[in-house]
Amino acid sequence: MFENLSERLSGVFDRLTKQGSLSEEDVKTALREVRVALLEADVSLPVARDFIKTVQDQATGQAVTKSVTPGQQVVKIVHDALVDTLTGAEDPGALKIDNPPAPILMVGLQGGGKTTTTAKLAKRLKESDGKRVLMASLDVNRPAAMEQLAILGTQIGVDTLPIVKGEDPVAIAKRAKTQASLGGYDVYMLDTAGRLSIDEELMAQVEAVRDVANPRETLLVVDGLTGQDAVNTAQNFDDRIGISGVVLTRMDGDGRGGAALSMRAVTGKPIRFVGLGEKMDALETFEPERIAGRILGMGDIVSLVEKAQETIEAEQAERMMKRFQKGQFNMNDLKMQLEQMQKMGGMEGVMGMMPGMGKMAKQMEGAGIDDKIITRQIALIQSMTKKERANPKLLQASRKKRIAKGAGLEVSELNKLLKMQRQMGDMMKKMGKGGMLKQAMKGMF
Ligand code: GDP
Repeated sequence: MFENLSERLSGVFDRLTKQGSLSEEDVKTALREVRVALLEADVSLPVARDFIKTVQDQATGQAVTKSVTPGQQVVKIVHDALVDTLTGAEDPGALKIDNPPAPILMVGLQGGGKTTTTAKLAKRLKESDGKRVLMASLDVNRPAAMEQLAILGTQIGVDTLPIVKGEDPVAIAKRAKTQASLGGYDVYMLDTAGRLSIDEELMAQVEAVRDVANPRETLLVVDGLTGQDAVNTAQNFDDRIGISGVVLTRMDGDGRGGAALSMRAVTGKPIRFVGLGEKMDALETFEPERIAGRILGMGDIVSLVEKAQETIEAEQAERMMKRFQKGQFNMNDLKMQLEQMQKMGGMEGVMGMMPGMGKMAKQMEGAGIDDKIITRQIALIQSMTKKERANPKLLQASRKKRIAKGAGLEVSELNKLLKMQRQMGDMMKKMGKGGMLKQAMKGMF
């Protein structure tokens, strides 16, 4: 998987990481090569373009981290951008299978690996999750396909719905549902028929099955070797049927891997699993971190940079804490806190994490501070000059008017913000004396 791409990238980054210093031109040249490598791996053009832009922006905007070379830092940025591009679902391997019997609809073109994947997934659900699974083939056009599923079922010890000649796919789906309920199965999997290409008849059939089965998951199985075609197939199926995820098969081959990188960005649908061979256990959950590691093959550098960045963050936090202990708490600090609050799910989220902050939360509520106001407060701070942010004591009447106007708000709101900044400064100082600040800050970084 990804051999070619991986080889190309390691060539680019080997050169880059060996250089002690990097000019903007060096980075540009390297990224041009990365772009070509992505396109050669059949990553779609807009995705490759966006990817390079993200990396470029971050590489120029990032502060130099001590103890790592700029090249190593670029590797880390590329790694993170890869993870980001690959990430589509929080927990790709977690299928929605509560409320038994849960229907899973398997769709895709013929030869993509649908039947094999159905059985692989059934085996996994049985062995890893302890679920009772029933599989049913709806491929009435190819009796061999029905036989194939039955054989796989026997092989992995998973039941298949008995084959009844002459039944149509919708009738089979209904029978599977009844059988799954009566038989006490947790999950039933419907392996639909595939065609060589997308046609109206196929789509209408899958749609009809979807409507009677009301699946909890609809997984599209596509051949990862087909690159951008796989992405187009996913788009088509999603438009017509609505899919909840993709299984990319044949990722054990020396495919160019572009489908994996383009899938989420183009279709908005997550890759949930990858097929890595013909055997029944050759199925893996799609883990963006691991895949990015395979593509880049530079895990050591990535963790080195991560450690260096953590050290720097710790140093920054330490410096900040020292200022807070002295009661120095300016508008930049407040802005950072407010932004942090937004990220962590508002007031409640933050206060819940910080010991001793419950009382403070009540006080702030009393002062009329809630989540909606946070956005306005940040706007007020943004309306201040650099000097004013660093030293809010400068804010006399005329400056206040200007700032409030700039944010489109009233001076009274700015006064409340100033009061909050003073109160938080006092509180930080008090907490600093008792050693509580250190505790509280732990939850924030
Ligand atoms: P369907 O027509 O979509 O149901 O496809 P099948 O499940 O019958 O698979 C077609 C062929 O691809 C079979 O020979 C499978 O063994 C093979 N296959 C399926 N998944 C993979 C995979 O992840 N890797 C490899 N190497 N072969 C696979």
